[in-house]
Amino acid sequence: MSPVYDIFKKTLGLLSKYKLPPTPEHYSLWYVYVSEENPELNAAVDKTLGKADQIGPSSAALLYQAHLADSRWRDSQALGASLSALSQELVSTLHDTRQDAAQFQQILSDRFNRLSGIQDGNVSLEMLLDEVRNLVKDAHLMEGSAEHLQDRLQNAEGEVNRLREALAKSQEEALVDVLTGLRNRRAFDMELASIQGPVSLILLDLDHFKQVNDSFGHLLGDQVLKATAKQLNSFIRDGAQAFRYGGEEFAVLVPESLSVARRRAESLRMLVSKVMVTDRRTDQKIGNITASLGVAEGKGGSQAEQLVEKADQQLYEAKRLGRNRVMPMAL
Ligand code: GH3
Ligand code: MG
Ligand code: MG
Repeated sequence: MSPVYDIFKKTLGLLSKYKLPPTPEHYSLWYVYVSEENPELNAAVDKTLGKADQIGPSSAALLYQAHLADSRWRDSQALGASLSALSQELVSTLHDTRQDAAQFQQILSDRFNRLSGIQDGNVSLEMLLDEVRNLVKDAHLMEGSAEHLQDRLQNAEGEVNRLREALAKSQEEALVDVLTGLRNRRAFDMELASIQGPVSLILLDLDHFKQVNDSFGHLLGDQVLKATAKQLNSFIRDGAQAFRYGGEEFAVLVPESLSVARRRAESLRMLVSKVMVTDRRTDQKIGNITASLGVAEGKGGSQAEQLVEKADQQLYEAKRLGRNRVMPMAL
């Protein structure tokens, strides 16, 4: 068997093992993983697998963004559009200078023709930056060419870089909650939609959180949310995944039966009760944080909504019965 075919087969095996839809991003994630081209990616994938023994769409999206997005497919369209805007600007600057216009415009148009390859997604960012660098070089070679034009070309490389960073950041922010660093509601929806089999959901809502804000201020309230997220992170293992579901509400997906998930919710309740935050201005310690939790077992995919509704009803019951408890009661 040829090594390429071998890699191809293993890639498909991993796609199916972790039940990720065969999109180009998922394919490239596993392809690069199998071919061991990018040790940082492999380390990050192994770390995620070590923690949760699974990689769902939102983890895959984060890994892809962090390790692969620069090089190939990512936002080739957006970069392409920005570059063509840049090229228009450069050409019109060139017109303004009216120096050696004909000759230089030919060079520019050759280069931009090559850059247009980015539209079909097979120009890497490195190649792109090379082209920009070459443009800068050409500009230097043009004796007597306008200084203003050279400045614009040199700025172009910086602009491409800034654009790339801004895109990476905004895509990551789309899935990660800035305050707690947990994955957000959107990531939760993606993840649950992708789960076909049975799964349990724990919804956790902090009790009387409005009072925490009212008594100690919103900033301290934020510290409590961060500390709660930290406890959630320490709790995550054996395939469980934690999300910030909304304001002071968190969600945990657990690949276990209702009775196991319920027990885990109980330990989560205890962990939250240990949350302690110090008000630096007054040295006052803020503790006694409690949470109510609702647990339900169901399915993801098309039945995701029903599962969330069931867990939410249990959470409502926990609040109604006096808070600081897990519902349903011990099975
Ligand atoms: P309950 O026990 O019924 O859940 O009472 P509660 O006060 O926790 O519930 P309620 O829904 O009335 O209030 C939730 C509060 O959470 C109100 C809102 O100001 C606060 N909150 C939501 N998001 C944030 C946040 O990001 N930071 C801070 N500090 N507070 C937040
Ligand atoms: Mg709430
Ligand atoms: Mg609350």
